[in-house]
Amino acid sequence: MKKRGSLAQQLASGVYNPVERLEEALYLISRLEEEVNAFITLLPEERLREEAREAQRRILEGKARPLEGVLVAVKDNISVRGLRATAGSKMLSCYKPPYNAHVVERLVDAGAIIVGKTNMDEFAMGSTGEYSAYGPTRNPWDMGRVPGGSSSGSAATLAYAAVDLALGSDTGGSIRLPAAFTATVGLKPTYGAVSRRGLIPYANSLEQIGPMARSVRDLAFLYSVIAGRDPLDATSIDYQPPDPYTLEPRDPEAVRLCVPEEIIDASEAPVKAAFEGLLSRLEAQGATIEYFRAPWTSLVLPAYYTIAMAEAASNLARYDGSLYPCHDSRARTWEELNVEARTRLFGPEVKRRIAMGVLVLSEGYRDEYYVKAAKIRRLVRDRVLGIVRECIIGQPTSPVLPPRLGERLGDPLQLYALDISTVTANLAGVPALQLPVSVEPLPVGAQLMARPRGEVDLFELGLLVEEITGLAGVSAF
Ligand code: GLN
Repeated sequence: MKKRGSLAQQLASGVYNPVERLEEALYLISRLEEEVNAFITLLPEERLREEAREAQRRILEGKARPLEGVLVAVKDNISVRGLRATAGSKMLSCYKPPYNAHVVERLVDAGAIIVGKTNMDEFAMGSTGEYSAYGPTRNPWDMGRVPGGSSSGSAATLAYAAVDLALGSDTGGSIRLPAAFTATVGLKPTYGAVSRRGLIPYANSLEQIGPMARSVRDLAFLYSVIAGRDPLDATSIDYQPPDPYTLEPRDPEAVRLCVPEEIIDASEAPVKAAFEGLLSRLEAQGATIEYFRAPWTSLVLPAYYTIAMAEAASNLARYDGSLYPCHDSRARTWEELNVEARTRLFGPEVKRRIAMGVLVLSEGYRDEYYVKAAKIRRLVRDRVLGIVRECIIGQPTSPVLPPRLGERLGDPLQLYALDISTVTANLAGVPALQLPVSVEPLPVGAQLMARPRGEVDLFELGLLVEEITGLAGVSAF
């Protein structure tokens, strides 16, 4: 285990040296990347060195931008102009977007260096990182275990410190679950707070691009760069992200944390122990902890997966083999091409979701599945919004410790069960922050949920939690 000083502080005091930091990162990549498999595409070393020298020059000239020379990894479903964006699928193995995602434009304008595109479950459908067509990613804290998914590579590369910041996407937990399994920090922003333009879509009504880092303050830095209105995304909201320079840990006496009993009951013993350890230390400092009953917990997974699969089936209908032709084909008609491409180039989980999604939307089943799920979503959202008006919800991010590779692959329901704690925030559209509470014997994370646009509350409480755990800046290497 290693602990690095705050990037935010180094940037603010002008001591950050991109050239030295890049050499350290390249060394870690050469030593660990082959085993971890966090990246699908890495930029050539010479190009990265050139960018780092240029950034260093700007810093010395006093012309540094907010993220000048900072090393960032971008999930492979987020478009970077001219760089392959596979979304973890063979279907897009040769697709190079001709434009930058909105968040990538913001990163580039802020002076960040994009080191590479990270591995992920195919089309962001998965919870362990094992559904990538480019091989599974391993967890740097224990190479026999999964790093969580679907933003598996973004979390894993932060955990071996090849980058300082990363972008992920979160439809039902894909930022928070991998962050929990790798002792990193991740935010699922308020719905609409970060533009989705340039994100390869999975389930639009649920998902957000979000920041990942090794500390709350570093995460707040990245968030302040990527959040805010984008007129070209119709779901984007007018919103001013918190100022990362002025954030302070919240006074424990002013903390009211509400903990759902059902999630605690669903958590295995070591997770429960680590999380409750945090609660008692918060309480000892004067925070108010209240348990409440959340009987809708048994409904959130069926509702989430029904809606997500329905949206996925319609989003993935566009991949007919002609739009992004990435394979040799002998097909003579569009229909042949369509069948051939979808049979050969989608993985089994993606096919399962398309089949289920088509089913839940089809005549005769729609009311029983999709419409019912939409009603449950409304109910959950109303309940959650009622609670986060009064207090911050706190709960373990994952019900279990990081599973071993292969352990959860036999039964899809076993895999979906990992998301019991995370999907609620997506159904409700509220922001949710994951941060580490312990790393012994394996990482355990806590999730905080707040009112819409309440990221500032999450960051302030997050800074207090970091004071208690002492885990800001940790990595496995
Ligand atoms: N594991 C969930 C799913 O597979 C969430 C994935 C995500 O957030 N992209 O749908």
